[in-house]
Amino acid sequence: MIVAKFGGTSVANAEAIIRAADIVAARVARRPVVVVSALSGATNELLEIARRAANGDLLVALTHVESLRARHLAEAATLLGSGDDCEELLTEIGAGFDELAHLAEALSTLGFVTARSLDAVAAYGEVLSSQIVAAAFRARGLNAQWVDAREVMITDDHFTRAAPDVTALAGTTRELVRPLVQRGVIPVLGGFIGSTAGHLTTTLGRGGSDFSAALIGAAMEAEAIEIWTDVDGMLTADPRIIPKARLIERIRFDEAAELAAFGAKVLHPSTIAPAVEKGIPVYVFNSRNPEGSGTMITFDAPRLPVRAIAGKRATTLVKLRTARMLLAHGFLRSVFEVFERYRTSVDVVTTSEVSISVTVDDVSHLDSIVADLSALGDVSVERARGVVAIVGAGITDGTATLAAAIGALGPISVHMASLSATGINFTMVIDDAQVVGAMTRLHARFFEEPA
Ligand code: ADP
Ligand code: ASP
Ligand code: MG
Repeated sequence: MIVAKFGGTSVANAEAIIRAADIVAARVARRPVVVVSALSGATNELLEIARRAANGDLLVALTHVESLRARHLAEAATLLGSGDDCEELLTEIGAGFDELAHLAEALSTLGFVTARSLDAVAAYGEVLSSQIVAAAFRARGLNAQWVDAREVMITDDHFTRAAPDVTALAGTTRELVRPLVQRGVIPVLGGFIGSTAGHLTTTLGRGGSDFSAALIGAAMEAEAIEIWTDVDGMLTADPRIIPKARLIERIRFDEAAELAAFGAKVLHPSTIAPAVEKGIPVYVFNSRNPEGSGTMITFDAPRLPVRAIAGKRATTLVKLRTARMLLAHGFLRSVFEVFERYRTSVDVVTTSEVSISVTVDDVSHLDSIVADLSALGDVSVERARGVVAIVGAGITDGTATLAAAIGALGPISVHMASLSATGINFTMVIDDAQVVGAMTRLHARFFEEPA
């Protein structure tokens, strides 16, 4: 079997959902399990509803609820026309939005939101989109059935970025999903959402539907995981920043994982790990151009010095200087324990004999981190930094590529640089305001010059 995941733009409206149905229809023989995101923009709007309600703007929140309700009902009606399936779906959608309105009222009474309530609200996006898509697929003659992803994706209780329980997932897919596939049914699940063992709704973090698809694919030992999105595949850079970005037809797992981690939004950063573990190829395709070759992500793509360029803005550099590092063992551990204490992940790391510098994206606990690190040495924080990276399995086949990367930056200052030990990623920390310029220069150097 295969897993086919459709992102927000690929289920944005009736027309997109019909395209998705045609794509799935062409794959029935491969026994697809379908994972869908919320209709595009719905998650942002739901989170806005929760925040507005808690801030006392209940009327604004309820206006958003009604406009989302109208959008979902209109798409469902266009897709289903009339009939029992349509009536049932419209009732389900109506009930969902009534609940959402009650939740908004409750949040406005409370006057605050918690991560747990944000997840409860955000989950409506995928619950509703998956119900609509399942019914629309049936209306197009596909033998599809909605499966409540919250019963399948069991997670811990780190609301808004919950971690999946892979052992539980093996059991729930065996009980709730595999029997459908075996009967020739196409299960349709919402991505992104899950629940704790105690039935509290959770989410896997923004963009998490890719991760859901990969987890379900790995749990079911799928032959392939297909990510259907709004670009032709993984490109040599983010096309919104580099319009000349080109399609990458084949890329290695480790390269794709690095790109995702460094901000290539086309894949959620956690997507690759479950696929690697089971050796399942991941494909990225354009749902508006299903005939395209897409990108195939596997272990054995041909080795290139530079496969793609990535960039990330708004990162923060934290530097710690202390003579105590000299010849001391266990020092780095005490530094990283501080980041662990605040569940803050660290991206780029460099050390010298007497200093360690790290970048972090999540600054929500920065004050506490700085306070704790100050016990270890002198701490300084540089905000408004960004990173650019070149990624390629052959980066260190000689030194020409590294020299060319630094040379391409011209006058842009590099504050910190790191070559990954696996030699597939060379990352440079620069000023936030220079990220686009640096990406443009690197892309021109590696992909737009005649070889
Ligand atoms: P979906 O809703 O289908 O999950 P996303 O918006 O999350 O889609 O991801 C697709 C977007 O990722 C593209 O529209 C593109 O702007 C962006 N993107 C960033 N970096 C890359 C890259 N290297 N290759 C392709 N797309 C990229
Ligand atoms: N709908 C969720 C989000 O917007 C998950 C996803 O689209 O992957 O973050
Ligand atoms: Mg996405």
